[in-house]
Amino acid sequence: MHNDESFLRSIADNPADDSTRLLYAKWLEERGDSRANFLRVQHAFGKHLPKTSEYRDLCKKEQDLVRELDPSWVQRVRRYTTPEPCRNVAELVPELAPFATTTTRLHPHRAIRPLPTWMSKIGGRFLWPKSEPWPLCSVCNVDLAPVIQLQKKYVPNIEFPAGADLLQLFWCPDEEAHDCQPSAQVFLRKAASVTSPRLDGPDLSEFPRISDWQGFVPFECAVFPEQVIEFPLGDDLYSIAGEAEHSRIRQKLEKMDLGPTDDLVERFSSSHGPSNPQDLACYELGECPGTKVGGKLGFERNGLMFEHLVTFSTWEFDSASFRRWLAVEDQRLFATPGEPLTWTRLFQDSDFKPFQEVLGMQLGRTQSAHIYVCRKREPWRVISVVYD
Ligand SMILES: [Zn+2]
Repeated sequence: MHNDESFLRSIADNPADDSTRLLYAKWLEERGDSRANFLRVQHAFGKHLPKTSEYRDLCKKEQDLVRELDPSWVQRVRRYTTPEPCRNVAELVPELAPFATTTTRLHPHRAIRPLPTWMSKIGGRFLWPKSEPWPLCSVCNVDLAPVIQLQKKYVPNIEFPAGADLLQLFWCPDEEAHDCQPSAQVFLRKAASVTSPRLDGPDLSEFPRISDWQGFVPFECAVFPEQVIEFPLGDDLYSIAGEAEHSRIRQKLEKMDLGPTDDLVERFSSSHGPSNPQDLACYELGECPGTKVGGKLGFERNGLMFEHLVTFSTWEFDSASFRRWLAVEDQRLFATPGEPLTWTRLFQDSDFKPFQEVLGMQLGRTQSAHIYVCRKREPWRVISVVYD
């Protein structure tokens, strides 16, 4: 027998599969439940091109439905997609093509209600056996904060040890005690083996949230993994390609021919946008600025190889990069129906902050914390890097 929760679980288990959403829509229609309209509208977007009147009507309908429906339900059936890049940088600068990497963007969105413990998520309550105490910081002797929990099937670019299908990362919530470098531990387990889960959470009462974007304890966020191709343009490119090639590529980016630029007028006329082709590449065509799993270059330390696991970002996008890195679905909600999203519409006319500073953590000078792991032995050794 189906019920709401069984459909929502199937959708979470197979986020790319349309058939579950359509079955759910049919089931809701049979019960006269108007939530079916939202699922139908989501499906219909795939059938119409932007700039058509049908697409504009769908945008309007979607905005109305999002206002009317229970936002926590909408969040559970959502899917988030990265917009296509406005130019193919690997075609314009072919020297970059060999450096393409795949990362899994997480598209974090603050949980509207607490999410079930089995779900992939950032913050909130994790699936943890009653028989195990919460992990402690060996320096501060406080409970570690749950930071990210990922099901293996959501992150195909990360290799799990045999038998494990759930990754859990905790770190010490006392940032000052660790010089603002997260002191993290990773746990790997088989979700089905947790038959008697804890119903409480670690004691973080010593670390209350003092503002919306400070501290080392993230807001609970739903995640919507999506694999994307990115091109390193900064330090990683320098390390892989060497100084001479890095400099040659940067020069080519500066001079690349963008072709007809009618579609770029809003970008280049904005004082917050790019001012030349190389800027455009850095903001929109290179590395994804938000929270993501895998894709960055690893390094060796004391004879051990550390691989990139996850990057957390203070900001998921900024005033020059939102056109590429804010999900299509969010852009549709903020934009004039059927029109591309503009800087003014997003940053002056919308409540964009919870979408930009999603995790609620302030992460150093570059606004990001990179977590690297050595998988040579278990438990994985963890190094975190925040540039401050
Ligand atoms: Zn500590």
